[in-house]
Formats: sequence, structure tokens, C-alpha cells
Amino acid sequence: GLDGASWRVLEPAVRQGHMPYLASLVDAGCSGVLTSTTPPKTPAAWSSFQTGKNPGKTGVYDFERWNRKTRTSDYVSSESLGVTLWDCLGQAGKRIAVINVPMTYPARPVSGVLITGLLTPNLNSRFIYPPDLREALLEHVPDYHIFNLRNTARTGSARRIHPFVTRLQEIVDSRARAAAFVFQREQADVAMVHFQATDVLQHAFWPMLCPDHERYDPETHELLCAAFYGFLDERLRRVCQAFVQGRADPVLTLVVSDHGFQTHHQRVRLGKWLVQKGYLSIRAGARPLPWLRRRLRRLDGSVARRFFERTAVGRRLDRFRRRPTFRMDFDHSRVFSFGRGCDGYLFFLEDDPAARQATQEQIRKDLMGLVDSRTGRPVVQEICPREAIYSGPRLADLPDWILRPAEGYSFTGNYEDGVRGLFAAVRFGRDFHAGMHHPEGVLIAAGPGVRCGRVEDARLWDVAPTVLAWLGLPVPEDMDGRVLQGLFTQPLTVQTARPEAPAVPTESSDTATYSPADVQDIEQRLRDLGYIE
Ligand SMILES: [Zn+2]
Repeated sequence: GLDGASWRVLEPAVRQGHMPYLASLVDAGCSGVLTSTTPPKTPAAWSSFQTGKNPGKTGVYDFERWNRKTRTSDYVSSESLGVTLWDCLGQAGKRIAVINVPMTYPARPVSGVLITGLLTPNLNSRFIYPPDLREALLEHVPDYHIFNLRNTARTGSARRIHPFVTRLQEIVDSRARAAAFVFQREQADVAMVHFQATDVLQHAFWPMLCPDHERYDPETHELLCAAFYGFLDERLRRVCQAFVQGRADPVLTLVVSDHGFQTHHQRVRLGKWLVQKGYLSIRAGARPLPWLRRRLRRLDGSVARRFFERTAVGRRLDRFRRRPTFRMDFDHSRVFSFGRGCDGYLFFLEDDPAARQATQEQIRKDLMGLVDSRTGRPVVQEICPREAIYSGPRLADLPDWILRPAEGYSFTGNYEDGVRGLFAAVRFGRDFHAGMHHPEGVLIAAGPGVRCGRVEDARLWDVAPTVLAWLGLPVPEDMDGRVLQGLFTQPLTVQTARPEAPAVPTESSDTATYSPADVQDIEQRLRDLGYIE
């Protein structure tokens, strides 16, 4: 798993010889675009990948999930995913080794090894199964961590490129050593390792990877290809070699990304727009001063934790700092937008169906008329009502509407204090997300039975059923994905099976997963990665 890997970067890197291992897989196998979820965000995408199901069944669209009843949000966890590919493999008697895949925390019992990914608070939490492997892992890879980029994240300027890339190399290397250690030790039937670094590098340095960007610099591009993509390619080779070593059976290798990348030009302040248009009311009073918010955001680590947890003033200030919807007046609003990253999530608040429908008709017109005054172009590419794109028992957990922005735009969901204008230009070097997600990810398959060529119309949730079918195992009927027959020279025989009862509760039970201290750890990481402010 290469988070955010895009053909826009990999294709030239492979062609120019920077990624010989990946090139060998592309040449021998079948590859193409892997379409992501809407929105193309890491938590939604990897949840659908692991379950073979659409977000209407996983209930995951972002790092957090809004609870309509309590009007608060909680970080999502693996506990809401239900049966995953890893469970199906375990039930069929296969052993797995899964390293750092997002949306696997807390580690649940599996047949084999599971080391959790992105929303894992820290290495003292339930990040590894079996738990007694923790000591051996940390002894073998003392620098193993979930993903720590602290103090180097906001370095998206060409001047600071060297320390940033060096740090990413260290992260990729420790991850690869951990994976090789587990793969050699476990002799699993199915193994996966996820690398976050591709996503992080592309957020920060996309203009240097994108030849038609106005700030593009071919020398920096060359440096990134050699020092990062080449480095990563060598680690991928080592990891795959560790899996293959001493094995007589043929091996199928898959490279997948959860989404692709594109240039990020403008942030659109959707919360502010809703206020201006009269859809959303903001409470008077209790206004945290902008400078105070900025100061509070910068506090991190143990000092802040002691302050926010142990003092009454700290706990009160923490509400300003953490709760993105703190100032929204839900009783006097018709619509609100939620999300701290690049999202367009709209929730409709009116209970009366006729009033709600009237609001939807009005806001649809208004959204289509929302144009960037500098270009005259609309900023909303498509309005996606949840029932139009997804289905399943968790549909009610999703936003009523998800807005797909026009190319280059993103939405800032929350209402922000003290900011001027509806648009904020994204400046390379200042905004950590100079690149942002795009729906078109990457799929490469190589191995016995895989044909040489291109695969069309592949979606992220097709991977899980394809893996099951390749192993000759039945595909649960409630998986939405279909087996990607186009990858193979001979069609695979597909048997279906009645879905197993989930081993874990599937209602919105994530609240209890994370302690306040866990939430601080997670938010620090998401802040370092530029996903929340
Ligand atoms: Zn990202």
C-alpha cells in the first residue's frame, strides 16, 4: 500500500529508471487506475479497501464521524468496520501479516500478525497483535513508530527539502525493516505493508513533481525521484523479497494506493459561505480570539497534555481548540458543514421533510452559483447526495451530501473565526498541502496468472474480493467489489458465501476506543500531517 501514489508521479519515475523494482512489476504485469471513494480520503478509502464494501456499509468517510444525536464528533476506529478481508482470510485458515494499514486500530485478534496504522495513538496503545510481539519488534526495529513527523512537517519549501526528505527516508526505512522482520518470522499466506510517506511528500512538494505547475523546478524533481522514490523502490524490493524468501508457492504481488494527487490552488471556506447565505447560525459570545486559538494550536506534547487535562482553564480552552463545531448554533441553523480538512460535507438539520427539501433545492442552486470570482468558474464539480452514490446499513452515518470540488479546489468545512474572504489561495512553502488528493489511485498486479497489460474500471473495493478469489476462497455476498477478472489471463472461478456475522460490534461504538490522551496523540499527528489545523 502506497498512500496517495499517483501515476502522474510514478509513470515518469518508472520510465526514467528511478524505480527499477516497480518497473519490473509494471513490465511483467497488469496495471491501471484504481478509483478511490468519494471523498478520496485515507480513512474512507482504506476502510473500503479492507472490507470490499462501500462507505454506506463501513460508515467511514473521514477521520472523524459526526454524531447527529449528541452533536459531537468522534474519531473512527477499526471497531466500526465489521468483517474485513483479514477476518475472511483468518476464517479460511490463512495466516496474515498486516503492517501499518490505516483504520486497523485497535488491533483485534487475527490469525497472524496485525500492526495498526494511522489512527493509532502511540506504541503503548493496542497497536500490535499478538501483544507479546511488541518487545521483539521494538528490539529488532528500535526506531519503529506509527508515523512521527513532528517539527519537520511544515517544511514545504524547496529550501527545507533535504531535512524533510531525510526524515521521510528514515520513516520508510524503519517501516520496511519492521515489515521484513515480521514477514520472515511469520511465513504468512497474505502480507501487506502500508507506507504513508508518499502521501506526505506529495502534499508538501507536489509543485516540484508536477511539470505544469508554475513553481515547478526540474532539478528538485530529479532530487525527489532519486532520494525518495528511488529509495522507496529499493525498500519495496527488500520487503517483497523478505516475503518470497524460502517459499515454494507462486506469489501474487499487488501495489495499491488509496487515492491519487493533484495541484491544490484554492481553499473555499464552506462554513463561512453557509453563514453568509443564512443557512448556518453562529452563536454570539464565547468567541475564542484568533490569536489565542493559534497559540493553543501550537502547544503540543506533554506540557499541553498536562495543561489541558489537569487544569480547569485548560479543559475549557481545549474545547475551543478541539471542537470544530463549537460555535455553531444548531437550533437556529438549517445546514452545517463538518470536517477539518479538505472536505465538502453537508448535514441538513431540519426534521420536517418539506422544509428540508426546500432548503436542499435552494442550496443546490446557490452551490452551483458559487464561482471563483477571479476565474468565473464554479467551484463545485458535483453534488453527491449520499443515497445517490452509496448504500448500506451505515448510510445514515454519512453526511447528507458530499460535495466534489472542481479540480484544484478544496473545502474548509468549519466556520473559522477572524478570517477574511471566502477563498484562500494555497501557497507552496506556506500551506503544507500544496498538493491534494485526487480520485485516481494506482493498481499494479504481477505474478502467476496475471496478464501483461492494462486494467480498466478498477475500484478500491474490488481488491479484497480479487484477493479472496485468487486464493480460491469464497467472496462474501455483501462485498460490493467485484473480482478484477481483467487482471488475469484465465478468469478466476468465483464462489460466493453468506457473510459471516461480524466478530465485533458494528454500531457507532468508537467513542470508548480513544481516551482524551489518545485523542491528543492522534490530533498531534493529524496536525503534523496538515489534515487538521
Ligand atoms: Zn493525504
